[in-house]
Amino acid sequence: MQLNERLFQLTQERYGLSPDQCGDQELYEALLLLTRDMALARPAPEGGRKLYYFSAEFLVGKLLSNNLLALGIYDQVKAMLADLGRDISTIESLEPEPSLGNGGLGRLAACFLDSIAALGLNGDGVGLNYHYGLFRQQFKNHKQTEHPDPWLEKDSWLVPTGRTFTVPFGKGEVKAVCYDLPVPGAGSGIANRLHLFDVEEPAAQPWVGIDFDKGDIAHNLTSFLYPDDSDEAGRLLRVYQQYFMVSAGAQLILQELEERGYALDTLSDHVVIQINDTHPSMVIPELIRLLTDRGMSVNQAISQVSRTCAYTNHTILAEALEKWPIAYLETVAPQLVPIIRELDRRVKEAYPDPKVAIIDEQDRVHMAHMDIHYGFSVNGVAALHTEILKNSELKAFYDLYPGKFNNKTNGVTFRRWLEGCNPELTALIDKCIGKDWRQDTRKLEGLMAFTEDEKVLEELLAIKQTKKDQLCRAIWHRQGIELDPKSVFDIQIKRLHEYKRQQMNALYLIYKYLEIKAGHLPERPVTVIFGAKAAPAYVMAKHIIHLILCLRQLIEQDPQVRPWLRVAMVENYNVTWAETLIPACDISEQISLASKEASGTGNMKLMANGAVTLGTMDGANVEIAQLVGEENIYTFGTSSEQVMDLYAQGSYRSLDCYHRPQVERLVDFLVSPELLAVGDPASLATLWKDMKNKDWFMALLDVEDYIAAKERCIHDYGDRTAWAKKMLVNIAKSGYFSSDRTIAQYNQDIWHLK
Ligand SMILES: *Cc1c(COP(=O)(O)O)cnc(C)c1O
Repeated sequence: MQLNERLFQLTQERYGLSPDQCGDQELYEALLLLTRDMALARPAPEGGRKLYYFSAEFLVGKLLSNNLLALGIYDQVKAMLADLGRDISTIESLEPEPSLGNGGLGRLAACFLDSIAALGLNGDGVGLNYHYGLFRQQFKNHKQTEHPDPWLEKDSWLVPTGRTFTVPFGKGEVKAVCYDLPVPGAGSGIANRLHLFDVEEPAAQPWVGIDFDKGDIAHNLTSFLYPDDSDEAGRLLRVYQQYFMVSAGAQLILQELEERGYALDTLSDHVVIQINDTHPSMVIPELIRLLTDRGMSVNQAISQVSRTCAYTNHTILAEALEKWPIAYLETVAPQLVPIIRELDRRVKEAYPDPKVAIIDEQDRVHMAHMDIHYGFSVNGVAALHTEILKNSELKAFYDLYPGKFNNKTNGVTFRRWLEGCNPELTALIDKCIGKDWRQDTRKLEGLMAFTEDEKVLEELLAIKQTKKDQLCRAIWHRQGIELDPKSVFDIQIKRLHEYKRQQMNALYLIYKYLEIKAGHLPERPVTVIFGAKAAPAYVMAKHIIHLILCLRQLIEQDPQVRPWLRVAMVENYNVTWAETLIPACDISEQISLASKEASGTGNMKLMANGAVTLGTMDGANVEIAQLVGEENIYTFGTSSEQVMDLYAQGSYRSLDCYHRPQVERLVDFLVSPELLAVGDPASLATLWKDMKNKDWFMALLDVEDYIAAKERCIHDYGDRTAWAKKMLVNIAKSGYFSSDRTIAQYNQDIWHLK
């Protein structure tokens, strides 16, 4: 059936209207169904071995245009809507963004699903169907407030599967209901699935803010992603969520294995499980439990599971490596405890070193340790990160199992992060080098032939200006903030965390403010844009948001400063915002303390859209620097080796850095009369004291170097041709960071799907 006939049929059935009589909302709903059904009608890929990608988060973003592109009908639908006098982007904007993830890790999982399907590989996602997502962020009195973020509508991308599984908790059973979200592959003709588990009777939204009854598992288990874990009920709920996800997922795997006609003792030949960070780690003991319940010996079950599971490490921050008190597991899933104790016993028997034990002396279960001992692969997510794992954080494990360790540098899908969000730049690239780069993004290197082509460089600058204009309109429309599109756009968008050092960027704002007040006018106006959510229980992160919003107010109301320096913070930073911000960025802020950012993926998206990186030699920035060469990136700061030495020796003294005269006046500005007049004195004072006396992520160590590098960047921006060349080199070299490349490597080295 033709697309327009199908659309006609759908709007008739649902509303008794023809498409041209429908409102935008009705058209959106009809298009959603049309697209969803086309995706569902696609076959699953062939292949004897099937991947299950387990992740607590899938930050998929809006799906309509993404799926239209994957199905190859975007242009057709756009034309069909144009014939009706409608604009596809207006229709797309009506879709609520599913809020099933928190940051880079969840977005990575979404890019991976996209690439797995595009490569025609047999791989599904497994996660949870959070009804109210992480939270929706608002600013009130210069502070973050959190609100439920409902995204499920009457008709969403989710389809019921009819599959249910019983998950046995210590205090009773809860039924897990499986919903599927189709994942059509671009150019491959197949579709995979994202399986999202839910409770049978999810709670409606009776609460105020994001507080709710964390003990009412049967109804609230899937209400929120990462419920506040500052109290025990919250921490227990996280363990409930994790066990619910892996138990239902493991049961699904065994059911599908049987449906495919394979015996249990061929599990590892036909299934591979990728454990995305430690949230799904309990899948290991759970699968062992299910296999032994079905009659397999313990030895055989352990051996099967160990050949099935692979683990991805995403962080070296000690506080993020999960360790659950065994008492929590006794409460949530007591049937797993004897299995985990047996796994631990075997480890202790083989390796007396307490550093590699699963259960430590305080009776806590180290989830990552279980993954490493009982999985067949351990990977880091960027070259530097994997080296740090091998040589320092997980050295004891690397010494035991050198063959398990491997690196898979992260990537992003260029279908969303270039074609989807920047059609103008895509058209220019097509004009220069043709369209083949879509299948192999390394072909973007062909753009290197145009670095001296003035016409191309001019067009590149014009496109950047267009995207900056569009961003200004979006920020004006959504937040009523007016920005100067002719200024330099310096953008830092990522979760708020002290190691990512938004506070150091705030110190730059103070520096610039004081310079302008002292009559030292900058070479050109600069706009610094932030987007960041802080975890609800992360107090220091909230103080940093408060500082940024106070600085914004102070700068904004000062007629002397405002023409030269502007600050904006977008509310509720999410994938949709990212898609508007990234194409408009001139300077990409990637300023984490070296050794702390495992990879970053925002850095890759920004680079592909012609932003120039201002960053530390951390995570994938190191690989970016190698690819583009030093004249096309601005690096600064203490090296990861030095930073790790400072931590190892406990020798960093923030006060020593504070007493440098240039630094002291910046830090002390936090408690200046000007700032105290706009902000909350207690919050600002707490942050001030922490920065001065503790500064755990060493912002004061690098701040002078950072300011100097940023000033160089802003100066160099003035030579428009030279700057455009840097932009073009960044785009040309970004192809390495396609998640298609990353997934091909996972498949080659770990999954062996076909
Ligand atoms: C890419 C992305 C991230 C990750 O950003 P980093 O700078 O790598 O931390 C976080 N949130 C959203 C919405 C993203 O699109």
